[in-house]
Amino acid sequence: MVRAEQVHKSYGQLEVLKGIDLEVQPGEVFCLVGPSGSGKSTFLRCINHLEQINAGRLYVDGDLIGYREKNGKLHELKDREVALKRRDIGMVFQRFNLFPHLTALENVMEAPVRVKGEPKQAARERAEARLAQVGLADKGASYPSQLSGGQQQRVAIARALAMEPKLMLFDEPTSALDPELVGDVLDCMRELAEQGMTMIVVTHEMGFAREVGDALVFMDGGVVVESGHPREVLTNPQHERTRAFLSKVL
Ligand code: ADP
Ligand code: MG
Repeated sequence: MVRAEQVHKSYGQLEVLKGIDLEVQPGEVFCLVGPSGSGKSTFLRCINHLEQINAGRLYVDGDLIGYREKNGKLHELKDREVALKRRDIGMVFQRFNLFPHLTALENVMEAPVRVKGEPKQAARERAEARLAQVGLADKGASYPSQLSGGQQQRVAIARALAMEPKLMLFDEPTSALDPELVGDVLDCMRELAEQGMTMIVVTHEMGFAREVGDALVFMDGGVVVESGHPREVLTNPQHERTRAFLSKVL
């Protein structure tokens, strides 16, 4: 579903991604962990067309990100083409980013109606089903300010799912939540995983990575330090940097 080959990304003089190689299989829960500043969010943003990479290749579902191949040459995608591709990728951030002036239901309906031109009634019914899927069937009429952080984050997940993405990116989805609200969001993500969604999850929740993850990559300083099955990496890390990081978060 995702393949990175020697992906490099710099901001001015600052090289943030220094040659990332990795592969995410369809249906996999792929956990990306590492210290703050190691480039995890930047990497997700590159996958989601929010940043352009400087070198290397990045493929999503077989498509080269940011470029179109024609007669053996690469052409940069136009904004409209990028927008079309981004529809296939759902993203959930640390902060929930809901529209404050729209109800939960309207937040979930918004993109299908505005971006895809879905008829309102159909979009409403599907949005209700999405809210039910994240355990919020009774909260459709609530505004974000009337919901807990965990509920808002689940609305954000329902909103991303409403576009029927083939890939979901989660960037520390529980980091901004009160501890007692983390479990509901992780349960919701676990259910999504069980339904076969391909997910890349940046998280410090090692329990989730161990129980739900199929693969884990430890990143530090813009490189992949080590990778493997989460249980292997978490119980038997091979590198000192991984051990040092895990001793802080476990
Ligand atoms: P992580 O998500 O692993 O904490 P980030 O990808 O957010 O790391 O950031 C990696 C590095 O890139 C940090 O040093 C950060 O300051 C820098 N960075 C991130 N975004 C930008 C930007 N838009 N402009 C300049 N530097 C940035
Ligand atoms: Mg980050």
